[in-house]
Amino acid sequence: MGQADNPAGHDGQSGSPRDLPASADLVILGGGIMGLWAAVKAGRLGIRTLLVDAGRLGQGASGGLLGALMSHTPDKWNEKKQFQFDALLALEDEVRWIEAETGLSCGYRRSGRLIPLPKPHLRDIALRHSQDAEANWQGGDGRFRWQVLDEVPQKGWPDAAFAEAGIVHDTFAARVSPRRLIAALAANLANARHVTVVEGLEAARIDAEARRVLFADGSSIAFGHCIVAAGHHSFPLLEAVSPLLSQPIGQPVKGQAALLKADIDAEWPLVFLNGLYVVPHEDGHVAIGSTSEESFDGPFSTDAKLDDLLDRARVLVPSLRNARLVERWAGLRPKAIGRDPMVGPHPDHRQVIALTGGFKVSFGVAHQLADAALAGILGREMRIPPSFTLESHLSLTAR
Ligand SMILES: Cc1cc2nc3c(=O)[nH]c(=O)nc-3n(C[C@H](O)[C@H](O)[C@H](O)COP(=O)(O)OP(=O)(O)OC[C@H]3O[C@@H](n4cnc5c(N)ncnc54)[C@H](O)[C@@H]3O)c2cc1C
Repeated sequence: MGQADNPAGHDGQSGSPRDLPASADLVILGGGIMGLWAAVKAGRLGIRTLLVDAGRLGQGASGGLLGALMSHTPDKWNEKKQFQFDALLALEDEVRWIEAETGLSCGYRRSGRLIPLPKPHLRDIALRHSQDAEANWQGGDGRFRWQVLDEVPQKGWPDAAFAEAGIVHDTFAARVSPRRLIAALAANLANARHVTVVEGLEAARIDAEARRVLFADGSSIAFGHCIVAAGHHSFPLLEAVSPLLSQPIGQPVKGQAALLKADIDAEWPLVFLNGLYVVPHEDGHVAIGSTSEESFDGPFSTDAKLDDLLDRARVLVPSLRNARLVERWAGLRPKAIGRDPMVGPHPDHRQVIALTGGFKVSFGVAHQLADAALAGILGREMRIPPSFTLESHLSLTAR
């Protein structure tokens, strides 16, 4: 079995319906990046937690290979940009903590990012962003810059032809290995005293009145609180407890990506241009991503759209011209109706809490969104932008 099939390295036999306790203070549905952070943090807080996944931990969108951690542009600063900046800043310490606890590397590095500027007007915009970063990227002791360089710092990474008006060096961007982070979070849970993990058990329905999760195999469990972190499957689960909706509250958006092996340095920065990401990882691996497809036939198949992406990547970064293809991969991102993450208690059933909708940025914010989801349980203030709340998303689709 390849890593993609089993990113957490579990044997899938860690639990079965008959192992279920009668109740749990917290039931978490879904063991992707969202559910795993929630379970790790609940365990730290000593909350008696059951984490259930329909298949294997990390088998959804979180079992991919890109792992780009990039902030929004530093202009037009607002609450959402600040939230994401703070989360990306805090992630470094969170990852170091998990690595220290488990002895496993998550393949994290703040390698920075290069954005070529093919046209002169883009340089003017970039110079303004440079000032915006000085004003808005607070919290890193001035370490983080949006520098405009005249030339590509390293020959062929990317091709100078794309940088006729210069190139931006964003020193804040980072990368993480999605599969290694998932594996480390899962390993942390394997030793957590208060958390039980059950794989291969699909939640069919949440009975919010009775506070029970009903599973597809006919078993069920009572909960004090239930966090719904089942990726795009969260949307139908939450819709079923929300009366009078005029349309779905979210949808899956397919993404394709690939992994190459090349003679590159793991410290090199990410390259980003017009939605194309080139992300150097450890061991000479370079991830290329991603397509964004709202309609698709095979959710997990790859096709000519990925070939096109690979062709573009090899032209943008000539060092990849002869790189060996290691893997092609596709997954379904959870995109909520309001595009923002969807987090927090259901307005009619406050024991049911959403933790989904991270769409393209989940890996940079999931740890912080998990804190917000748990704050609701502990009766603490939920520190997220108002548009992230489940309540706000539901209001967009109420009849
Ligand atoms: C090609 C591609 C590239 C990407 N690149 C990046 C990137 O560079 N940076 C970034 O931050 N993000 C990126 N993303 C987005 C990111 O991967 C996702 O947003 C994120 O993984 C979603 O995590 P999740 O935990 O919400 O859902 P998932 O990872 O999908 O996890 C959901 C889990 O719930 C389980 N489940 C489903 N239904 C049920 C049920 N009924 N009962 C119990 N369990 C259930 C599933 O088995 C699964 O394990 C990318 C996504 C794709 C597809």
